Amino acid sequence: MAQQPDSITIALSKGRILKETLPLFASAGIEPLEDIHTSRKLIFETTQPGVRFIVIRAVDVPTYVEYGVADLGVAGKDVLMEHGAEEMYELLDLNIARCKLMTARLSDAEPVPGRMKVATKFVKVAKRYFAEQGRQVDVIKLYGGQELAPIMNLADTIVDIVDTGNTLRANGLVPDEHIADISSRLVASRLALKLKDDRINPIVEQISRTISEKQAS
Ligand code: AMP
Repeated sequence: MAQQPDSITIALSKGRILKETLPLFASAGIEPLEDIHTSRKLIFETTQPGVRFIVIRAVDVPTYVEYGVADLGVAGKDVLMEHGAEEMYELLDLNIARCKLMTARLSDAEPVPGRMKVATKFVKVAKRYFAEQGRQVDVIKLYGGQELAPIMNLADTIVDIVDTGNTLRANGLVPDEHIADISSRLVASRLALKLKDDRINPIVEQISRTISEKQAS
């Protein structure tokens, strides 16, 4: 479906952050016309004519925004860091889905004498982090369940999202080094900011006000 020149497409991440994202857009008068949580559709018209949501996997949000197919997008800072987030601007910290990107290891792990093996789904972030520290590591790509890697001796360390720390604890791991504070961000494509700023700015300003009010209350 091609974009109309004056329409706005907003890419939202499926899953845990969707529930917290929708009220922010609702405060700017943008609500899906159908129940996003129960529908299997991927495109949703909204209460604002010409504004639609697409609901996709978080890791795909930067791609849609980067290519200018989506004008705005919501994704975690972890996803943006791993993607590289070129051709887009981070407009707002939405202050939702807060967590930390950390290294973690077995609680009884001995120091690793040589090259450390690091298992993670955040391969680029991990390589950059250890390179900045001048540490030699081998990064092993996993798609989930990273906690298993040190237990099975696949890796010495993992790089993963930590919220309550329960997942680590349940698997005998402890958080170690703090890499970054993570939260969901509103991003815009470079093209959209150039061509559609009159439609985008009021949305961004209202969401920004809503975030400030939430923080003050
Ligand atoms: P926890 O056990 O509360 O520390 O949660 C850790 C797990 O939940 C991680 O392995 C992540 O997969 C997931 N998780 C928690 N918070 C977030 C978030 N804000 N964004 C993405 N994944 C998260």
